[in-house]
Amino acid sequence: MPYKAWFQCLACDGEHYPLSEVVYHCRKCGGLLEVHHDMEQLQRRSGGEWRSLFDQRYMSTVHPYGSSVWGKKELVCPAVDDENVVSMYEGGSNLLWAERLGAEIGVKDLWIKQCGNSHTGSFKDLGMTVLVSMVKQMIADGQNIPAVACASTGDTSAALAAYCAAAEIPAIVLLPKDMISTAQLIQPIANGALTLSLRTDFDGCMQLVQEISQRENIYLANSMNSLRIEGQKTIAIELLQQFHWEVPDWIVIPGGNLGNVSALGKGFLEMKEMGLIDKIPRLVVAQAASANPLFRSYLTGYENFEPQTARDTLASAIKIGNPVSRDRAIRTLQKFDGLVEEATENELANACARADSKGLFTCPHTGVALAALTKLVAAGKIESDSRVIVISTAHGLKFPDFKVKYHEDRLQEFGVEPSHRNIPIEVDADFEIVRSTILKALERNDSQELVH
Ligand SMILES: *Cc1c(COP(=O)(O)O)cnc(C)c1O
Ligand SMILES: [Zn+2]
Repeated sequence: MPYKAWFQCLACDGEHYPLSEVVYHCRKCGGLLEVHHDMEQLQRRSGGEWRSLFDQRYMSTVHPYGSSVWGKKELVCPAVDDENVVSMYEGGSNLLWAERLGAEIGVKDLWIKQCGNSHTGSFKDLGMTVLVSMVKQMIADGQNIPAVACASTGDTSAALAAYCAAAEIPAIVLLPKDMISTAQLIQPIANGALTLSLRTDFDGCMQLVQEISQRENIYLANSMNSLRIEGQKTIAIELLQQFHWEVPDWIVIPGGNLGNVSALGKGFLEMKEMGLIDKIPRLVVAQAASANPLFRSYLTGYENFEPQTARDTLASAIKIGNPVSRDRAIRTLQKFDGLVEEATENELANACARADSKGLFTCPHTGVALAALTKLVAAGKIESDSRVIVISTAHGLKFPDFKVKYHEDRLQEFGVEPSHRNIPIEVDADFEIVRSTILKALERNDSQELVH
């Protein structure tokens, strides 16, 4: 029995379209579309049956169900035939108990969900596997799709390029010149995508890619395309699998375009509707103070929402002033009794370094989430006995320049005063000198003191 899903307008509810149609906005009211599943059909299995089915597939080697996204295929994208699934074994990312970091922040039960430990190094893989698979299905069904395109702050383009390369579909990426890391730039290049570096910011790239895809029949891969949300929502399901279906108290997630928080929320709400869980966590969106339109809106009780020109931030993947998924995100936060917090450049950089000093290797966006958490715990808004999950969105290795500059104290232009510096000590290759340097260092555990 095939499961059914379709695009449905978020605003006027009535309009729907098949998932194989090239459509991103409601043709009646222009609203964003969302993937809806035939819940009645899904509810024919009990919550317990779904849980065991998902658990049984989790991280197996049965293609495509061993992928943690496709292991939930019925609930993600039933419109793709198994042979058209373009998967690189997404999900199954590790969830670690950050004991020492939690103790310092003041929450005992702190966990980091390492979504950046993934094929292209960010959670964007989770959504891109769904989108590119759907495109492969559409092409197999005879539709004319010459290419797939996206605007990106770096990670979306890396994921798009990799999945399109695997599927032999041409990819086009529009990037803001000089605003993404070298590692992020080399990813689409290595995967053979047509890479355009534009003299504008992300919001400028976004406008152009929308216009071009509309005129030239190129398929748009940005998160207004809600197929990606379906893949990303499996973060919520996978998290619970890792906790044996026990729902945590809080989840903190960095937000830019605000698709991922919407995805997380959708995952939890659908699991509740299907009887997999009976309660939902509270959510926190963390924004960089330099790109904080949601935080400002939150301060007005969401009465106003003013798009802004995002200022420079080290958290480059969330440097977005006009987030596409703002309505979805606000709705989600309202349903999850959510909070929004912001972090300055100094706060995010030091939050990263503190986490790294406890054995992690965090990207700046994860730093935003950790800094926000620290502030909320200090303010008593998150209780110290809560179970808190921080969604780490990308791998720290994508941002080596940021880390090097931090430790070399070269982030003054961002107002960063590094409190966890550690730099190499250059000494002669001489036994006595090496020995005395080590012994001197071991006497003091403040690495600052090592620098001479
Ligand atoms: C895309 C991205 C985000 C933001 O996700 P949104 O869905 O745009 O809110 C955060 N961190 C990293 C590393 C990303 O790549
Ligand atoms: Zn509509």
